[in-house]
Amino acid sequence: MNGQKNCSIQCTIKECAHNMQSENYCTLDVISIGTHEPNPTKAECTDCKSFVMKSSY
Ligand code: SF4
Repeated sequence: MNGQKNCSIQCTIKECAHNMQSENYCTLDVISIGTHEPNPTKAECTDCKSFVMKSSY
């Protein structure tokens, strides 16, 4: 992870290793979005597939 925010991707998931903690942005150049639903109908049906749990050292 390069630690620089991607101004095009706002994200508040601070539990993700790719999240910039000081600001609500992702640090990846590109992310992958998917769904866990067979027929997605609302925002809650979508998931960030690039999520990686932050290690708790
Ligand atoms: S990878 Fe996904 S969940 Fe993680 S900070 Fe980026 S947009 Fe948010």
